[in-house]
Amino acid sequence: MADTLRPVLERRLKSGIAGDVSFDRFTRGRYATDASHYQIMPVGVVAPRTMDDAARAIAIAREEGVSVLARGGGTSQCGQTVNASLVIDCSKYLNRILELDVEGKRCVVEPGIVLDDLNRALKPHGLWFPVDISTASRATIGGMTGNNSCGARSLRYGNTRENVISVNAILSDGRAQAFGPASPSLSEFPPSSPMHALASDLLALGAREADEVAARFPKVQRRVGGYNLDALLPGRNDLNLAHILIGSEGTLGFTTQVELKLSPLLGRRAVGACHFGRFYDAMDAAQHIVRLKPIGVELIDRTMIELAREIAIFRPTLEQFVRGAPDAILLVEFGEDDHDENLRRLKQLSALMGDLGYAWTKDGLKQGGVVDILDPALQAAITEVRTSGLNIMMSMKDEGKPVSFVEDCAVPLEHLAEYTLRLTDVFEKHGTRGTWYAHAGAGCLHVRPVLNLRLDKDVKAMRAIAEEAFAMVRAYKGSHSGEHGDGIVRSEFHEFMFGSKLVRAFEQVKARFDPDGLFNPGKIVHAPKFDDRANFRFGPGYRGEDVATRLDWSAWPGSGGGFQGAVEMCNNNGACRKIEGGVMCPSYRVTRDERDVTRGRANSLRLAVTGQLGPDALSSDGMAETMKLCVSCKACRRECPTGVDMARMKIEVQAARAARFGFPLRDRLVGWLPRYAPYAIAFPWLMNARDIVPGAAWLSERLAGFSARRSLPQWRRDVFRDVIPGRGREPANPESITTTGSMDSGSGTVAPSRNDEHQVVLFADTFNRYFERENLDAAGAVLTAAGYIVQVAQPADDRKRPLCCGRTFLSVGAVDQAREEAERTLAALAPFIDRGIPVVGLEPSCILSFRDEIPALVKSDAADKLAGLALTFEEFLALEHKAGRLDLKLKSTPGRALVHGHCHQKAFDAFGPVQTVLKLIPDLKVETIESSCCGMAGAFGYGADTIDVSLAIGELSLLPAVRKAPDDAIIVADGTSCRHQIHDGTGREALHLARVLADRL
Ligand SMILES: Cc1cc2nc3c(=O)[nH]c(=O)nc-3n(C[C@H](O)[C@H](O)[C@H](O)COP(=O)(O)OP(=O)(O)OC[C@H]3O[C@@H](n4cnc5c(N)ncnc54)[C@H](O)[C@@H]3O)c2cc1C
Ligand code: SF4
Ligand code: SF4
Repeated sequence: MADTLRPVLERRLKSGIAGDVSFDRFTRGRYATDASHYQIMPVGVVAPRTMDDAARAIAIAREEGVSVLARGGGTSQCGQTVNASLVIDCSKYLNRILELDVEGKRCVVEPGIVLDDLNRALKPHGLWFPVDISTASRATIGGMTGNNSCGARSLRYGNTRENVISVNAILSDGRAQAFGPASPSLSEFPPSSPMHALASDLLALGAREADEVAARFPKVQRRVGGYNLDALLPGRNDLNLAHILIGSEGTLGFTTQVELKLSPLLGRRAVGACHFGRFYDAMDAAQHIVRLKPIGVELIDRTMIELAREIAIFRPTLEQFVRGAPDAILLVEFGEDDHDENLRRLKQLSALMGDLGYAWTKDGLKQGGVVDILDPALQAAITEVRTSGLNIMMSMKDEGKPVSFVEDCAVPLEHLAEYTLRLTDVFEKHGTRGTWYAHAGAGCLHVRPVLNLRLDKDVKAMRAIAEEAFAMVRAYKGSHSGEHGDGIVRSEFHEFMFGSKLVRAFEQVKARFDPDGLFNPGKIVHAPKFDDRANFRFGPGYRGEDVATRLDWSAWPGSGGGFQGAVEMCNNNGACRKIEGGVMCPSYRVTRDERDVTRGRANSLRLAVTGQLGPDALSSDGMAETMKLCVSCKACRRECPTGVDMARMKIEVQAARAARFGFPLRDRLVGWLPRYAPYAIAFPWLMNARDIVPGAAWLSERLAGFSARRSLPQWRRDVFRDVIPGRGREPANPESITTTGSMDSGSGTVAPSRNDEHQVVLFADTFNRYFERENLDAAGAVLTAAGYIVQVAQPADDRKRPLCCGRTFLSVGAVDQAREEAERTLAALAPFIDRGIPVVGLEPSCILSFRDEIPALVKSDAADKLAGLALTFEEFLALEHKAGRLDLKLKSTPGRALVHGHCHQKAFDAFGPVQTVLKLIPDLKVETIESSCCGMAGAFGYGADTIDVSLAIGELSLLPAVRKAPDDAIIVADGTSCRHQIHDGTGREALHLARVLADRL
C-alpha cells in the first residue's frame, strides 16, 4: 500500500483546512474498519476543527473526484462506516453543544458529540437524550442519526428518528440545508428554492410508493432498513423532512448539526429479573410481559451468563441477581414517574410468572420466577453487563468468532419464540451456534453465529444462514434490519425484503440527493455482495507474517506464537473510546485521537503482523508513534471486554524495535536502572546534579530525552539494605525461621513455635529500595507489629545486586534482561514458593508483574506458583483481616484520607484492599479519588515528547481532586510514579499506605 494515493488531494487539504489531515498508511489503516467484519482502506482521513473546514474538505474531495465518508465513533456493525473514501472524523473536534433550551426540552449539537458526554451535560438540568444505546460511551449523535439507532428503552421513547427535531446537512452540491418539520404544502420554502424542488420530489415519490410502502414496510417498531419512505407518505400531518436523512448512513449528505428532543430524566426504577428454565419459554413470555408496559425487556441467555461469570468485573454483579442456573433471564424494567406504580407492576410481574407456571420451589424447566432489583447501583451494574453483551460473547479466543449479519432481525412478538427456535435449527444445520441477547420487548434479538471468515466453507455458511433467516423473517412480516443499519451486510437483501419497486425508489432517493455518488457510495443502494471477501477484514490472502515474539501468546491462535490471535481479539466495538468511567485509555482522553486508543493500536498491530503495512512494520516509526502514548496502564487488560492487553503487546513492539535499532539512551537509563543503581548510590551528589547544576536538565533533555521540566527521583546513600529496622539482617532461608530466636525480642530472630502461616516475604522493589526506603521500613514495622515473621527476599547467588522483578527492563522492551532478573528472583524465592509463603510488595507495578508478565516470560512451575503467592501489601493485610488473623492496633485518626489507585491495582482488582485496610484506622474517613491514570506511568511522564500528555492526563481528575482536598487530608497513593506526579502537579506529599499505617501503630 503506497503512503499517499492522492497527493494532490492531500496537498490541497493540508493547505486548505485547519484540522488533522493524514494520508499515511497507519492512519488510514486505523480507519479501514468499523465494528463489522469488513475492511476497506480509505483514501485519507481528515478531522476538521470547524464545520467550515468540514465543508471545505467536502468541496475539495468533490473537486478531486473522491467520495466522502462521515464518521463518528466508528462502532457500526454492518460496514456502513468503511469505504474507499476521504474519511471525515467528526468525533475529534466537531463535538460541541451549540444550543440548550431547558424549558423547551431541546438542544442543538454538532454531530461528533458522544451520547454519554451529551447526557452528562444535560443531567444537571434534569434532562437526557433517551435513545440509550449500548455504545452510548462512544457512539456519536451523528452516527446515531446516520443509523437511526435504537436504545433499550425504545418501547417508551422510540428510535433516534422519534427524538430528532431537525438535521442540518451539507448536500452534494455543497449547499447547506436545514431539514425539519414542514407542512404538507411545503409553504415554508420559496417555490423557486432548491429545497422546495427537492422536498416536492420526495413527497411525490412518497405518494407514488404509498401502497408499496404500506404493503412491504414491516409493521414492527424496529425497522431501520432502507430509506424512510414512510416519512414521505401523503396525508401525514407530522411531516418531518429530517426523517429521510435519519438512517441514511451518510449516503445523502453530511450532517452538520442535529436538533434533539430531550426527555426528563428517569426517576427511580424497578427491575425484575425473570428467570426461565428454557430459552424458548422466555421468548414466549415476552409478548405477555410487554402488556405490563415496561420501558424495557432485555434478554441475557445462559451462554452470556456463563461467559460474564468468567470476567472479573462482571462476576460480582451476576452473583447478586442470578439465582441458580437459568437458561435465560428477561430483565424487565418499569420506569413510571410514580415509583409505587413501578412496585405494583413488579408485583404483577411476579404474579404473571406464577400464572405462567414458574416457582422457585419447582424443579426442572418450571423452576424460576422474579428476582426484584431495586438498588439503583445494582441496576446500573446490570446495565453494564447487559450493554457489554456482545463484547462478552466476543471474548472467545478461537479463530471462529460470533459474526454479525443476521444479528438484528425483528419479528412480531407472537412469533419470537418460534423464530428463535427455527433460527437455532438453521445454525445447527450449518454446523454452528449462536448466543442471544438484547431487546426482547421490541422483538429485536441479537444473535451472532460463530464462524471463521477465513474459511470459504464458513463464508458459504454465512450466505446460506442469511438467506434462510431473512426468508423466515419475511414470512413473519418482520424486519431484517432492526437496529444496527444496512451497511454492506444487509443492503444486498433489500430487494428480497422490500421488493424491487421499493429498492428502485430507494435508488431514486439517492440519485435525487447525490447523483454523483459523493457520499458513502455502495451503502443502502448499489451495494456490493455482502460476502465479497475482497471487502473482508480477513480477506483473501489474509495471513499472519512470521514475526518473532518474546512473550507467551500461546493462549491464542495465529502467527507469532499466537500474537496474531491476541491482536485480532479487538473487534472494533470502541469501548476503549469512553471518556469517563474506568481508566482506559488515559492518553486518548486527552488527545481524542484514534491513534491513542487501544482499538487504534490493535488495528495497527493487526495490519502490521499480517503484512498490510509494509515490511518490518512492527518495528517501524509508524508503529512507535502508534504506541508512544500508551502508558502501559493495563486498563485495557481488564476493561476491554475482549481482554486486549496492549501493555503486553507494547513490550513486543519495543522489543522488535530494539532488536532492529538497539536501545536509545533514555531507554537504557530507564531500563537498566536496577543494574547501575548499586553503583549510583555511591555518588548521590553526582547523580542528583542534573537537577541542581544550571543547564544540566536541559542537557539531559537534549541527550537523553528526559524533560527539563521534571525533576528526577533523588538518589541517596541510606538506601534500604534488606534489614527491617529494629531487627537484624533477616535470614534468607525460611527453614531457619522456625528454629531460631524469639520474635518478641525485636532482635530479628523468631520464635520456634511460629509456623509458615505467620511468615511473609517482603519483596523490596528497586524504586522503594533506592528512593523511598521509608515505605519498606514502614511495611516491615506494620507487618512485624501485626505479628508476622517478615523476611526480606535476597539474592540466592552471592552477587551484591539486589533482586528485581524486571519491570524497568520490560518497560523498554528489554525482554531478555527482564527474564534474567525474573529467573534470578524466582531462584531466590524458591524456598518460600515451595512452602507457599506469601510474597508481599509495595510498588504495585513490580509485585503485580509476578502475576502477569513473569509467568509469560518464564515458563516454570515456580513462576506459576509465585503468581498465586505475590500480593500487594494491602492485599495481604486485607486477606488476613478477612480470615480473622490480622491483629493490628491502630491509633484513632479523625479526618479524611483521599486514595488514588495505581492503574495496575485497578487492572488486577487490587485497589479495593487499599480502602479496606485504611478503614481499619479508627475514625478515618476514606474517600476514593475518581481518577484514571495519574499520567506519570513510570518513565512516560519524564519524556520530553510525552510530558505534556502526561500532565494533561493528571489534570483530567487526579490533580484537581488533590488540590481541592483539605490541607489536613491524608493523600494516599501506592505507586511511586503517582506520588511523583501528585508532588509535581500540586506540591502535596502523597503517602504509601504502609507509611499511613506505620504512623498510627
Ligand atoms: C457492541 C455494540 C453494541 C451496539 N449496540 C447498539 C444498540 O444498542 N443500539 C443501536 O442502535 N446500535 C448499537 N450498535 C451500533 C452502533 O454503535 C450505533 O449504530 C451507533 O449509533 C453508531 O454511532 P457511531 O458514532 O459509532 O457511528 P459511526 O459508525 O461512526 O457512523 C454510523 C453511520 O453514520 C454516518 N455518519 C456519522 N457521522 C455523520 C455525519 N456527520 N453526517 C452524515 N453521516 C454521518 C456514517 O457514515 C455511518 O454510515 C452497537 C454496536 C456495537 C459494536
Ligand atoms: S481494544 Fe477492546 S475495547 Fe477497544 S475496540 Fe478493541 S475490543 Fe473494543
Ligand atoms: S495499556 Fe493503558 S494506555 Fe495502553 S492501550 Fe491499554 S488502556 Fe490504553
